[in-house]
Amino acid sequence: MDTLTQGLVAYKGVAVAAWLVLLFVLERMMPAATRPADGVALAAGQSGALARAGWTRVARNAGLFLVNAAISPLIVVPVSAWATTHALGWRPTWLTGWTGLTFDLVLLDLWIYWWHRAVHRTPLLWRFHVVHHLDRFLDTTSATRFHFGEVLLSACVRAAVIVLAGIPLTSVLVFEALVLTASIFHHSNWRLPAGIERALSRVIVTPSLHWMHHHAIRRDTDSTYGTIFSFWDRMFGSVASGTRTPDMTIGVGAGDAPLEDERFLDLLARPLRRASRR
Ligand SMILES: [Zn+2]
Repeated sequence: MDTLTQGLVAYKGVAVAAWLVLLFVLERMMPAATRPADGVALAAGQSGALARAGWTRVARNAGLFLVNAAISPLIVVPVSAWATTHALGWRPTWLTGWTGLTFDLVLLDLWIYWWHRAVHRTPLLWRFHVVHHLDRFLDTTSATRFHFGEVLLSACVRAAVIVLAGIPLTSVLVFEALVLTASIFHHSNWRLPAGIERALSRVIVTPSLHWMHHHAIRRDTDSTYGTIFSFWDRMFGSVASGTRTPDMTIGVGAGDAPLEDERFLDLLARPLRRASRR
């Protein structure tokens, strides 16, 4: 990596980490939903177990994030950097500066929308993506919960888009920062004023929209695929039919065991198992 790329990667990391910490605190001060068992009467001693289960979940999600953070500079950034130097040369010369950046961000967000639809529809890819959807609750840490196999596959497919459209590395790095920022925001459990959330949801994906994508009901899980912009779902007819409620059950197959999750190593080995379509 050259010095400019290293600087952009470092700046991106610091900015995203600050955003994650800010929303992690806000969602605990102003939560929109409580975890399933938080709302029911607990027997003596159960609240401690519940709190431990909550922090175990955060640690599990953080563990998956650390794996991805380790492979990103080793594989994801070099693959993207290689792709930006092998453009097909079709890009018009006027597509530079802010115009070029805007074009690249919209194009890459459109690409990630269709990639997200593909990982839900392709059984092999779903084996990786289900690790994200097995989370039994949503908060900022859910945004970091992805199997490293999905991260690598997505980087390789995205490289093809970068080569085809001649996307520069600066645009790719800005896009990555925005995807992480947007993902932390729309997975968060931060209770926003309803009017503000409604206004934002016309343009970007908000928690109310994205939580439907994690609803235990499969029809809702297979909807609302947007990452940054919310208009792709309206344009391509994939908006969830219902609306989020604070007590809705989260996670694929969560109707059976609301508070149970798989262990960290089981999650890493999850793609070796056939994933349930429930
Ligand atoms: Zn999904």
